Amino acid sequence: MIEFFVVIFGLIIGSFLNVLVYRLPLSISLINPKRSFCTSCNTQIKWYENIPVLSYLYLKAKCPNCSIKISIVYPLVEIVTSVITLLLYLKYGLDINFYISIFLFYTLIVLSFIDFEYKAVPDYLLLIAIVTSFFIVDFSFQNAMIFAGGFVLLDFFITYYIQNIKAKITKNDDLLDQTALGEGDIPIVAIIGGMLGVKLGLVAIFLASLFAILPAIYNIVKKSDIETPFIPFLVMGLLSCFLFSDFIFNILEGII
Ligand SMILES: [Zn+2]
Repeated sequence: MIEFFVVIFGLIIGSFLNVLVYRLPLSISLINPKRSFCTSCNTQIKWYENIPVLSYLYLKAKCPNCSIKISIVYPLVEIVTSVITLLLYLKYGLDINFYISIFLFYTLIVLSFIDFEYKAVPDYLLLIAIVTSFFIVDFSFQNAMIFAGGFVLLDFFITYYIQNIKAKITKNDDLLDQTALGEGDIPIVAIIGGMLGVKLGLVAIFLASLFAILPAIYNIVKKSDIETPFIPFLVMGLLSCFLFSDFIFNILEGII
């Protein structure tokens, strides 16, 4: 029964996270306007048109006023938030660790979807995420530093390759000021190391790279050159390893 309320709670928070994803990068106040509005025609959305997931289905993904298509991202954020809330509840119950970890993952969800949209994220959100992660049980500063440092070094090598070797071979001057990894990725990698430790952390980074291959293949097939954001995939790797650590450790023991 509590599970049911946790799911509903997750959907409602997800609806609020949508507001953050939309308003924070555009610097629109969270309080004013208080009610949500259509991003195309600015019509205020009525309360019964603002029910998580259900309204999206009921409105058939169209604004009732201007008929513009409502993005699938809105119900997606709500469902993802709800599922993550439920899984963390199943891990911790209504423990203090539950509240800390949902707050962290809510921040990471907002960061992920903003990164998808803008390929850049606000620094204060990264700061909130990393400071919150310090309060996760068994967070290790040492491992956080190891991962952040390792990542900076990796970024140096790949960036050197892109700017000095790939740029010359392909004669593409655009590559001269391109960097391999985003700056926003570093705090997330530190969170991964600190929360998961070295072994599990490496599994998380490996999973993140696997997840990130899919959009990369899509880009090649579609011959588009969209920059793939990495934060969402790092978060997916972190989440999988954080929730299913026992399962992954068992597999690792089988291999090593
Ligand atoms: Zn509209």
